[in-house]
Amino acid sequence: MSQLRAMQNETQRRARGLSIDDYVGGVLRGDRSMLARTITLIESRAAADEARAEEVVKRLLPHTGKSKRVGITGVPGVGKSTFIENFGCLLAERGHKIAVLAIDPSSVRSGGSILGDKTRMEKLSRHPNAYIRPSPAGENLGGVARRTRETLLLCEAAGFDTLLLETVGVGQSEVALRSLVDFFLLLLLPGAGDELQGIKKGIIEMADAVLINKADGDRNRAQQALVEHSSALHYSQPATPGWQTWVALSSGVTGEGLPELWEAIERFYRELQPSGAIERRRKQQALDWLATLVEQELRRRFYEDPGVKKRLPELQQALLRGETTAASAAREILAQFKMRTEE
Ligand code: GDP
Repeated sequence: MSQLRAMQNETQRRARGLSIDDYVGGVLRGDRSMLARTITLIESRAAADEARAEEVVKRLLPHTGKSKRVGITGVPGVGKSTFIENFGCLLAERGHKIAVLAIDPSSVRSGGSILGDKTRMEKLSRHPNAYIRPSPAGENLGGVARRTRETLLLCEAAGFDTLLLETVGVGQSEVALRSLVDFFLLLLLPGAGDELQGIKKGIIEMADAVLINKADGDRNRAQQALVEHSSALHYSQPATPGWQTWVALSSGVTGEGLPELWEAIERFYRELQPSGAIERRRKQQALDWLATLVEQELRRRFYEDPGVKKRLPELQQALLRGETTAASAAREILAQFKMRTEE
């Protein structure tokens, strides 16, 4: 009888949808299926879900911030999924609760995510201490970064102590990822020059650790790459003041370098937490994020404004015909937009 009633309650609850309390409670209990449903709520672009998602994240905020946030990047084929699978399993075996998230703007084009795909990390995805969530699909980079930021907070509230966030190292997404994590790891292939590897200028300088991966292959090339990167980094500004960028050899296949990487990450927190450096970075990231959201929204409102949509092409043509300057066209369209928004 009571079972029947429970089933009826459940049916009723499903019919009316989950409440904010259901979501918040489920995440705080560490209930996997509730965590997944809450992430789905956050990824939804339905207007009705947006306000609810915002409320859920706000309610969970006091329970966030305690995890280690680690970003991992490298070009396709460098061995990220193999590396994360084995590194994640190593930590999960030691009792850590690991969440793997991905920033993959290419999912917009492919319609599905290559990163964070469970089939890429089969062993880890089956581990009871691990949770893998693919990148939200159908979004631009700004959208993916936004959802991932909130998913990160949900995972922290659900009790994951280590978050591994990965992105493909081919462009802007590394910068987006850097702005989400405390510790940033770059995987490199031994031998090939940075340009050949498709590593964008400036990415190496953002890294707190550089690993020459697949070091189980050509040992000499790997050693040589290690020496070159160690000496180059020795002369450049560290990505995190007070932390000497850690350079080592690794192999996702043999597990070489994985325990040492974890030691380095722990040392990073041990050394930088007392001075408040990590807290400062997170605060700066939050402020930057606020600015980004405001800018995104202003840009959206501007370009979607009917007056702007009508007048801007005319001004562009006038500019091309040499009848106006860019500065005066900009002044006119902004003045018009301002008047319309003040109406
Ligand atoms: P990703 O595209 O960066 O995620 O790279 P994958 O992890 O999918 O690896 C790409 C290829 O390199 C696969 O064929 C892997 O088996 C291989 N691979 C990955 N890690 C290593 C490694 O540490 N050593 C060697 N020798 N091969 C590896």
